Amino acid sequence: MSEPTATEPVNTGQIKQLLDQHKTKMKMALRVCAHCSLCAQSCFLFNTREQDPIYMPSHKFINSIGRLYKKKGNVDRQALEEISEIAWKRCVLCTRCYCPLGIDIPEMITLARTICRSQNVVNDFSAE
Ligand code: SF4
Ligand code: SF4
Repeated sequence: MSEPTATEPVNTGQIKQLLDQHKTKMKMALRVCAHCSLCAQSCFLFNTREQDPIYMPSHKFINSIGRLYKKKGNVDRQALEEISEIAWKRCVLCTRCYCPLGIDIPEMITLARTICRSQNVVNDFSAE
């Protein structure tokens, strides 16, 4: 099977379906996040990347699954590639991040991965 090109359309209907399946929980999490940054203290990637804000757990979920909900699934392949960069390269789903409000950050990143994967956008570590 040939690799999809950057301009190849994505199936936004399928993306919307996946977003809808998890809408209640995900939208609640996105809404209640207080942007307090407490979760960042427990993310080893944030701490080992000189506390670069792009590694903050909240930054990661807002710009991956949050972006997908904000756009209501109307994204192109380029956007999915940017999201996959976050979902694979900036989070290893170690589940160590602690949120006092009970937001399940790995679950949110996992859904972002699932949606990228559904459109055959998967981070290719072998290309590095
Ligand atoms: S600790 Fe929870 S409420 Fe605070 S920024 Fe992180 S996810 Fe949001
Ligand atoms: S699951 Fe992701 S965001 Fe949470 S601590 Fe691990 S690497 Fe950081």
